[in-house]
Amino acid sequence: MSKVVKNKLYVFNETHKECEICGKSAELRPYGPNGANVCFECGMKDEKTAIQMFEKRIKNVDTMVIVTNKIMHNIWILFIAGAGAI
Ligand SMILES: [Zn+2]
Repeated sequence: MSKVVKNKLYVFNETHKECEICGKSAELRPYGPNGANVCFECGMKDEKTAIQMFEKRIKNVDTMVIVTNKIMHNIWILFIAGAGAI
C-alpha cells in the first residue's frame, strides 16, 4: 500500500491481488485508467496514463519515502522513481 501523509508519499511493497484489467495476480498500483489497480504489464501498455495517474497521486507531495526490503526486485518502484524524476 502507498499513502500520502502530509506532504510525504510512502510507497510500500503490495501484496499480490488480481489486476483490474487482465485478472493476473500481481503487485498492483492505481495507475490504470481512472485509477484502476493494474499490474505492471497493463500499466506499461498505456504508460502515458500511468504517468498521469502517478503525477495526480504526487500532486501535493514534496517527499517520497520508499519502504521496501527488496527494491531491486520491485519493477513498480523503479517506475515510480523514474516517473517522479520526469
Ligand atoms: Zn494486468
